[in-house]
Amino acid sequence: MKRIALFPGSFDPFTKGHEDIVIRGSLLFDEVIIGIGQNSQKQRFFPIEVMINCINEAFKDYPNVKVDSFVGLTATFAEKINAKYLLRGLRNTTDFEYENSIAQINKNIYPNLETVLFITSPELAYISSTIVRDIHKWGQNVDKYLPYKLPT
Ligand code: ADP
Repeated sequence: MKRIALFPGSFDPFTKGHEDIVIRGSLLFDEVIIGIGQNSQKQRFFPIEVMINCINEAFKDYPNVKVDSFVGLTATFAEKINAKYLLRGLRNTTDFEYENSIAQINKNIYPNLETVLFITSPELAYISSTIVRDIHKWGQNVDKYLPYKLPT
């Protein structure tokens, strides 16, 4: 059976830090699905359709990487697409505290789901979507943080 891993997140925007996790995951699993979670409470800056196109462009040479979006719980989406592994990145202890709780909850919802935590590559650990988004809003060029060119 195919080993499918889901890499869920807001990806507003998807960064080189995220890319690193996906590439490392693609070497371990048969398929990696990048799942953009749609949260009705949170207004996005980069529209989902734009981000899907950008991510497809970034992984055009990776046949086992796909991107999709979902509404609702991550664990429910993982079950729906038959993903038994949930990929997440750990940048620091704050990420660890959060990921630890969410992994337990996700396992309660979908007991077959195994969370796999990747220690972030140190040269990419400082990159966060929030900061990239903020500096982009103020007109800074953010190309060096992204694995694709933003549409103009
Ligand atoms: P969420 O809103 O679900 O936290 P994000 O898009 O911010 O979504 O992040 C998705 C995942 O990517 C999280 O596991 C996060 O820890 C990880 N991540 C974020 N930035 C980086 C980075 N620079 N390097 C590695 N992993 C990262």
